[in-house]
Amino acid sequence: MTAVGSTTRMSTPTVAECLASGRTSFSFEFFPPRTAEGERQLWTALREIEALHPTFVSVTYGAGGSTRDGTIRVTERIATETTLTPIGHLTAVNHSVGELRRVIGGYAGAGVRNVLALRGDPPGDPQAEWVRHPEGLEYADELVSLVRSLGDFCVGVAAFPDKHPRSPDLETDARFLVRKLDAGADFAITQFFFGADDYFRLVERVRRLGCDAPIIPGVMPVTNVAQIERMAQLSGADFPADLAARLHEVADDPAAVRAIGIEVATELSERLLAGGAPGLHFITLNRSSATREIYQSLGR
Ligand code: FAD
Repeated sequence: MTAVGSTTRMSTPTVAECLASGRTSFSFEFFPPRTAEGERQLWTALREIEALHPTFVSVTYGAGGSTRDGTIRVTERIATETTLTPIGHLTAVNHSVGELRRVIGGYAGAGVRNVLALRGDPPGDPQAEWVRHPEGLEYADELVSLVRSLGDFCVGVAAFPDKHPRSPDLETDARFLVRKLDAGADFAITQFFFGADDYFRLVERVRRLGCDAPIIPGVMPVTNVAQIERMAQLSGADFPADLAARLHEVADDPAAVRAIGIEVATELSERLLAGGAPGLHFITLNRSSATREIYQSLGR
């Protein structure tokens, strides 16, 4: 007999189907926690987000070991114990193709039909030289093809409005993004960024290359100045000098930093939606309150 949960899951639309419906997509990103307290915080945030009926939630894939098991465990639990549609992230870092097949099979077994296929960064130092696993993959487009070959998955990929830090220029970066989409990905989600025009220019470059796949902008409200500066440096996102100056003026006042972060992210979100973005993907850092405030101030 089929369990009720899996019957419901089978009829759950994929992210691609949701995007094709034309409804604005709202989604939220989480990471697998390392501690029992982190686990409680994650599940509080997930339950609060569930009440907003988002299009999907996503769970990032760690650099190795227990956080990877955490991704699979959390994603499976979301699929089986909540009404949310999860996307499991997956990277090629330190994985043979055989191991990747097993992780993808695990997602399928848990009813997870949406996968974000990523190359990933060298563990320890993300800026170090990339060395592929001897029996693994070199670039994300190969992972897209692998996931596609293993079942009826809906596949997303990463995009970079400020270009990926290893890409020589914006045009080349866009060509590699299109290659991933041509390999069978259904949509892309961008790295966080601060300039709406940078997003629209990326979309234009991709359209000029003949690709019309949806590109969902990633939005991260600043709630901690040092943390976002480090993340921006690693991800290649341009951190605007005027925003940095405003934040540094109030750096000792967490409530003031948070208020500026929410104001700036809300303005960015409004511009993105007004300019035709198919949705917004909020990076929550496992706390829902800032992203919920932005979502609610958008009148949703
Ligand atoms: P690729 O598309 O393979 O690109 C890597 C580099 O190679 C780029 O510079 C690209 O221009 C170049 N390139 C691509 N294809 C080719 C080719 N065929 N020939 C030559 N050069 C090529 N990291 C994690 O570890 N876990 C996560 O869960 C995670 N989630 C993310 C979610 C989003 C929305 C985003 C935007 C990023 C995420 N990342 C995550 C970070 C990501 O893994 C890194 O940015 C990584 O450096 C690039 O991954 P990619 O999939 O874009 O790689």
